[in-house]
Amino acid sequence: MAQSSIPKILFSSLKPRLPQMLELLRELTLLESPSTEKAPADRCCNFLADQWLLRGGIIHILKREHRGHHLRVVWPPLAGRPSGQLLVLGHYDTVYPTGTLAQMPFRVSGGKAYGPGTFDMKAGLVQALFAFEALQELKLPVTKNIVSLWTSDEEIGSESSRSLIESEAKRSDAVFVLEPSLGPRGLLKTSRKGVGEAELLVHGRSSHAGLAPEKGINAIHELAAQITRIERWNNYRSGVTVNADIIEGGSRTNVIADRAKATLDLRAWRHSDMRALESRLHSLRPIHRGTKLEITGGFDRPPLERKHTAALFSRAKSLAKQLGITLGEAAAGGGSDGNFTAAVGVPTLDGLGAVGDGAHSTHEHVLIKTMPERAALLAALLSCC
Ligand SMILES: [Zn+2]
Repeated sequence: MAQSSIPKILFSSLKPRLPQMLELLRELTLLESPSTEKAPADRCCNFLADQWLLRGGIIHILKREHRGHHLRVVWPPLAGRPSGQLLVLGHYDTVYPTGTLAQMPFRVSGGKAYGPGTFDMKAGLVQALFAFEALQELKLPVTKNIVSLWTSDEEIGSESSRSLIESEAKRSDAVFVLEPSLGPRGLLKTSRKGVGEAELLVHGRSSHAGLAPEKGINAIHELAAQITRIERWNNYRSGVTVNADIIEGGSRTNVIADRAKATLDLRAWRHSDMRALESRLHSLRPIHRGTKLEITGGFDRPPLERKHTAALFSRAKSLAKQLGITLGEAAAGGGSDGNFTAAVGVPTLDGLGAVGDGAHSTHEHVLIKTMPERAALLAALLSCC
């Protein structure tokens, strides 16, 4: 079989399966799976495990006490010893609490499938399942072990899955992330900002605001001065941003506040900028005499830099061309689990999931007709890498 025909063969096999893909997307969407609710998340995980079993995967359910289980699926080559490993990565959790379906039901309209988590990223899960189905039925030559990980807590920072993702990535030659693509043309994400969170806590001294104002040290005044200082660190050209997005402090108007706190969102495109921002934060000193600062936190997802993804992207681009798709790329200001896999030095291609719009919003949807071609692209990448 000529290499150049593989994407087309895959697409012809996948295109007629669109009704089944849509039906599976409906079933998966109806199994609401918020990151913070273990029982419904586990149900969704078990359903996914059954789907992989049906397609010849070897299943490992990795149980977690407080979060939904993670699902690891191994798919060995049809013949011979594996010559390496590829990792397919995704999450089945969503940002929507159970019951969201009542206001935001699964529905199909105008070529789009709407519903909580459809775009981010249940359609991506469906595409992966059908990509494997097609590879298996067509008996295409896959030479590597393919491991896929479907995790339960990406939307809340991946605390219970991070080490699993990193150790699986270290064993892999490449990682394919099924996060949604960007925009109606389905751009892949070839760089992502590093993302973090820090807390700036100010201690002052309380006093009666009328009887003894001179004895007080106002923590809110200090925090305000610090925030004004920090605000100047924003640099849209280099992409370094720091935003105080939550503040709290004080108790009553006649009491000088002895405590104030800001939670900061941190972002950067480059590792070096990330480190510089962290050290700047941790070297903040009080402006008002007598106050004390406590700074905690930092980046938890390092940036996904383009150098870790360029070669895989050009391979994807040439495979997509054989499907008649002009594949573009984009940089994303948000992080994903792909940030972790790139940070351990493994080539990572992100945004290989659904084409659609409205992630984390009431109009979240998928462009239905793109599902078979995106599944074919993933399958082609797995058979040629
Ligand atoms: Zn996602």
